[in-house]
Amino acid sequence: MKILIAASEAFPFCKTGGLADVTGALSQVFSRAEGSEVVLFLPRYRNVGGGAFSLKAAGGSFLIPVGNRVETATMSRVQWGKVAVYFIENPKYFDRPGMYRTAGGDFEDNDERFLFFSRAVLEGAKFIGFKPDIIHCHDWQTGLVPAYLRTLYRIDSFYAKTASVFTIHNIAYQGMFPKETLLKAGFSWQDFTPERLEYYGGINYMKAALSFADLVTTVSPTYASEIQYRPEFGHGMEGVLKHRTSDLFGILNGIDEEIWDPATDTFLERGYELKSFQRGKAAAKKALQKELGLEENKDVILAGVVSRLDHQKGLDLLLKIAPEFLDKMQFVVLGSGDPGLTDAFGALAAQNPKSVAFRSTFDEALAHRIYGGSDIFIMPSRFEPCGLSQMIAMRYGSLPVVTRTGGLKDTVFYNGEPKDSNGFAIDNPDEGQLHSVLGHIISLYGWRENWNLMVKNAMRGDYAWGKSAEAYLKLFSIAAQRRQL
Ligand code: ADP
Repeated sequence: MKILIAASEAFPFCKTGGLADVTGALSQVFSRAEGSEVVLFLPRYRNVGGGAFSLKAAGGSFLIPVGNRVETATMSRVQWGKVAVYFIENPKYFDRPGMYRTAGGDFEDNDERFLFFSRAVLEGAKFIGFKPDIIHCHDWQTGLVPAYLRTLYRIDSFYAKTASVFTIHNIAYQGMFPKETLLKAGFSWQDFTPERLEYYGGINYMKAALSFADLVTTVSPTYASEIQYRPEFGHGMEGVLKHRTSDLFGILNGIDEEIWDPATDTFLERGYELKSFQRGKAAAKKALQKELGLEENKDVILAGVVSRLDHQKGLDLLLKIAPEFLDKMQFVVLGSGDPGLTDAFGALAAQNPKSVAFRSTFDEALAHRIYGGSDIFIMPSRFEPCGLSQMIAMRYGSLPVVTRTGGLKDTVFYNGEPKDSNGFAIDNPDEGQLHSVLGHIISLYGWRENWNLMVKNAMRGDYAWGKSAEAYLKLFSIAAQRRQL
């Protein structure tokens, strides 16, 4: 099967969050399946192409209509294992600091940037002669690809047998633009109907994908249900999803178990596995306390956070209650985003340098050391499509403290019985509930036998891509067969 993956980010080339981990891992996993051929398309942002990967020009250029102008696309290429990665280049759109936004907000031309990218993917595949059975698109940035396939490219024989599968990683981000974008994107007014592209008088890239993709998936079974049946999770897409219920599947994300492996992690003081986690984690904790200037104390609970700082993640709740726990817990927070949260965590750390450390950057190495050195990992999300951080934390023996929502509910089990639990969970993103579970954690931490039992449960979990990758490939076959009819 020929699979084209179109995404706005993929690890290790460009990353702002979990989306990149997933698209990167899936392209590798799919490429190893028997009989598959995988091509990955990404935008060439400013910082892409350094380090271990040397990009080669893919030759030639082609023109992409944007409204009544044309913009030039060129491509570069790198072979990544069995995956051929193509980068769509256009300096005006992609050679700037940041991928989607600056500190001041979203780039104003995101509509153009991603309609250009989506159309360039379809033209780029033709350019290299890669006729896909499946185009797997991810989130709103590539939402126009399924729509193009069924409108502008409907009679293009190159794509006559191509099916599209769209994966929702976060339905809160939809790519909503004014109706003028419809014409910039090359659609006609006939497409501007509530069944197709129109959304409250504008155009919505996520809705475009949900209307036109052959099959739709999202990243956990619980989130699949939440976005269809609970308006506070569906963000206005419930109506569209209702029409697609029989085509919508929840497939749990996995993590790349080679990248996230405490036994071989070179960012850690010393590797550790299930048998040696006590010594390994103690060394990682000590090193982390030292690195961040915290009190070097093995008996205090070290709580880690590695996260986008966004209302979604519920970290404002942690901010409110953290001061009450500073005599028994240390907090290490790595994250950037919301300026209000950034200032508040900065102030908390400045007032309590021995017990709170805050780094407002994106730092892959420090993230590894936090997963390794923390005892608990705090993630009280208001909603969480899947969440990777809690799985990474569990693999590193840091017990996650989560809300029972989306993928957190599907991966973290807590019923008060340590032998059946691999973390801690609260029902609602609520300050009081978070306060009481942290209180419970303090008392349980002293009860080492039970604590270690939970750590072992967490570390033993199966977070690999195996089963989920199979589920995707099965869906791809179904979608491809439908196109053959
Ligand atoms: P989301 O995709 O909503 O941001 P996930 O839990 O699915 O959340 O994935 C987050 C990923 O991004 C994890 O791999 C996490 O380690 C990483 N991450 C988030 N913030 C940072 C940061 N500031 N520095 C390094 N890695 C980060």
